[in-house]
Amino acid sequence: MLDKKKILLIMGILMSLLILTSGDLSATGKKKIILIDPAHGGKEQGVKMSTDVSEKDITLAVALSLKQALARGNNLEVFLTRDSDKTVDMEDRKDSIKKIKPDFFISLHVNGGLGKDASGFEIYYPWFGEEAIKEKKTAKDNASQLKNKYQNDSLKMAKIIQENMNVLFPRKGRGLRKADLPVTEGLFVPAVSVEMGFATNPEDRKKLLSVNTQTEIAKALAKSINSFYR
Ligand SMILES: [Zn+2]
Repeated sequence: MLDKKKILLIMGILMSLLILTSGDLSATGKKKIILIDPAHGGKEQGVKMSTDVSEKDITLAVALSLKQALARGNNLEVFLTRDSDKTVDMEDRKDSIKKIKPDFFISLHVNGGLGKDASGFEIYYPWFGEEAIKEKKTAKDNASQLKNKYQNDSLKMAKIIQENMNVLFPRKGRGLRKADLPVTEGLFVPAVSVEMGFATNPEDRKKLLSVNTQTEIAKALAKSINSFYR
């Protein structure tokens, strides 16, 4: 049988373990900053979707819905490069990245062209060139380590998004593409750009115009971001 002293001792050990673990949790619980970029806006309409809807409207709708979906978790802080139908040029978007310093940058687009038959989603992830390393202004070794990490992170996020978008649009994935994203060119930030479908394909266009699909895409992206940080 345990005597009183032993029980108190065991309780003490358990209590301190509890305090130690909760301390650990709060240390790793620093909020991750996500910057969502609904491409185009205002005067810059992007690809035409119908007589009165353009790419800029779809990217904004998905971005707002994504922000809402992510707000339910408490480990993320979410910003948008625009939250209304206004013109935001490339330099303004780059300035947002420099100012907000997000842990992850996600740009949203609708594809167009390549004829009526081209359809499905594509995910681009950046390749950080020498210019981005120079921009970083840290020791060169450190910068190339960061470059590797950001590249790996971008690819990892692209893969997770691909999986979740595949569930939503089976056999519609056009793959992952490594490319310099104009919006992050010369900047040093983990990023992906999602081309959600083709405005020039009748079936894709119909889907993208539906509020239901827009919400489903936002949910798939939110799920991806949440699992990336889990
Ligand atoms: Zn676009």
